[in-house]
Amino acid sequence: MSPIKKVTCHVVSAPVERPFTSSRGWLYKTRGSCIVEIETTDGIVGWGECYGPSAVAKAYIETQFAPRIIGRDAFDVEVIWEDLYNRIKDYGGRGMATSALSGIDIALWDIMGKSCGKPIHKLIGGAYRTEVTAYATGLYFIDMDRLIEEAVEEANEFVDNGFVAIKMKIGLGSPKLDIDRVAAVRKAIGDDVRLMVDANHCFTVPQAIRIGRELEKLNVEWFEEPISPEDIDGYVEVTRSLDMAVAGGENEFTRWGFRDLVVRKAMDIIQPDVCAAGGISECRKIATLASAHGVECIPHAWGSAIGLAATLHFLAALPDQPPSFKPMPPLLELEQCENPFRDLLSVEPILQKAGKVQIPTGAGLGIDINRSVLDRYRVA
Ligand code: CA
Repeated sequence: MSPIKKVTCHVVSAPVERPFTSSRGWLYKTRGSCIVEIETTDGIVGWGECYGPSAVAKAYIETQFAPRIIGRDAFDVEVIWEDLYNRIKDYGGRGMATSALSGIDIALWDIMGKSCGKPIHKLIGGAYRTEVTAYATGLYFIDMDRLIEEAVEEANEFVDNGFVAIKMKIGLGSPKLDIDRVAAVRKAIGDDVRLMVDANHCFTVPQAIRIGRELEKLNVEWFEEPISPEDIDGYVEVTRSLDMAVAGGENEFTRWGFRDLVVRKAMDIIQPDVCAAGGISECRKIATLASAHGVECIPHAWGSAIGLAATLHFLAALPDQPPSFKPMPPLLELEQCENPFRDLLSVEPILQKAGKVQIPTGAGLGIDINRSVLDRYRVA
């Protein structure tokens, strides 16, 4: 038994020195998060994180979820999940309500691991791998006068730092400019570095198919979010039309949301985020669903060291898709934009070396939280 005593939300925000954007068009001027801290009566502290607007996650947790879990056993993690989900499903079965639920779920897994003295991945099936290949997410749009040059410089820097896989943003309102930019990056990094693109759903179906055919010639591994996430028929059409893999799903939630994508094979790769789609418990179910339908699962990650650690444990326990003599295991998304919560929140930061990131082996999430970072960036 690990009875829950207290739930605390830490809303944090840090300024970004060089604001950046994607095809979404909004400028990232700050990085923030809702960090969830859950304490048990036996003094164990578990940490979780919620993706998306942090004040909204905090409101869901404080008004809807926290009062329902005080006094309950953290080991009843799925019982709690079902109860909280059923509490909000009439008006919040997806979106921020599910993000808030994800933060609680991750914290409960951290508590269970700490209570048993085992890393989370040992409690959810075991370690298929002890390290993962990370891909650098970057090449956003910063200096509009140097879009191609800046992308090439950043890609070269990633390769110099050891990365063997890179994902770049596209969607500049000009297919020619997008293709020229991807071609320049491909030329700079050579054929041995894996390259993916992410359009953040800015294209129509015919635009996506047309640009996808050009991207295939540049040996792009996957085309992420070519079109709007609501258009499942459109995804089926784009996915069937292109030889390259199509990816998506970072804005989808729960097993029920992903069911409709995987049963139709609307995309080759689904990308649930453990801090959004329902936590570690729900992402395990989503991955199983995907595997049953022959769809790959490569999680989205864009959070702090807590979200990153949770993603690493999820990845460690994900079977090779498919298993083989020389499998191609799922990749870790390691975004490279300014983010002090990724770099400083864990006392020992999660870093890549020669493109690989080790799966934490300590109890629970396997990281120690630097509370001074929470204090420093706390939103009043
Ligand atoms: Ca993305």
